[in-house]
Amino acid sequence: MEVVETIEALNSALDRLPKPFGVVLTMGALHAGHIALVEQAIEVKASGGSVISTIFVNPTQFGPQEDLSAYPRALEGDLARFKAAGVDLVFTPPPNVMYPAGFQTTVEVGEVSQGLEGSRRPGHFKGVATVVTKLLNLTRADTTYFGQKDAQQVAVIKRMVRDLNMRTNIAVIPTVRESDGLAMSSRNRYLSDYQRRAAGVISRALKAAGEMYEQGERLPKALRLTVQRVLIAEPLVEMDYVSAADARTLQELHEASDAPILLSLAVRVGQTRLLDNCLLPLSLNNRADLTTTLGAG
Ligand code: AMP
Repeated sequence: MEVVETIEALNSALDRLPKPFGVVLTMGALHAGHIALVEQAIEVKASGGSVISTIFVNPTQFGPQEDLSAYPRALEGDLARFKAAGVDLVFTPPPNVMYPAGFQTTVEVGEVSQGLEGSRRPGHFKGVATVVTKLLNLTRADTTYFGQKDAQQVAVIKRMVRDLNMRTNIAVIPTVRESDGLAMSSRNRYLSDYQRRAAGVISRALKAAGEMYEQGERLPKALRLTVQRVLIAEPLVEMDYVSAADARTLQELHEASDAPILLSLAVRVGQTRLLDNCLLPLSLNNRADLTTTLGAG
């Protein structure tokens, strides 16, 4: 496995590696969720291709009050994990390689980036769309693998790729969870033992609403209320939002509907902000259906 930090070294490595390129973009502090993306990307090897990963904590997607300086960094361990998983090339650019003096271009996606996380984190998706554009150009991605956990990010990137005629395919990989259901996240390591135990309520809340849906409940408000009721029972978990949106457009739903639903939430546990979601019906939470449904509208 080769590790490169500069654009020149990246280009010379890519010129040598066989195509197609399967790409996994990360901010490092790797966990089994990231490795699941790599395990899916390994499929490019069946057609003679190569797996490329990036580790870059992108400053422009963090707000001024957010955890950029505290964001966990664990480069040595990350490289060992990527190597063991079969990655061929890792690009770990320092910030000045991505944003040299004079940098002044950004990518802004419209409506789909404005609700949910977009309304709580102004500028976040502008930072994400810009850095993802750069990284997909740089890595010459044929297929890029994204996690369901950041569902709105998937919808924003899909919209951008369609609107700007970018040539990568997008694959969406189901959320990998801890044994109590907590979605894996680099930010979970901020949690104290008490907080970590309390955070188990997040996936239980989604599950409770998922079961109601499976029993026939179609009113978005009832589904949101169920999630809220379960969350409220855990005093260490502070609700930010609970949403039941059309999974294709991410527009909030108000009427009973048979459209696929993205049930999503953000909470705070102490200082740590955590996200989770599921698609309804629950049978859609697999790679093929996530890839065709989430953000497809
Ligand atoms: P991050 O390093 O948090 O920016 O995440 C890099 C990629 O890994 C994104 O596409 C995430 O959606 C994905 N990812 C993060 N956590 C998980 C998880 N628990 N399961 C699956 N994918 C994940």
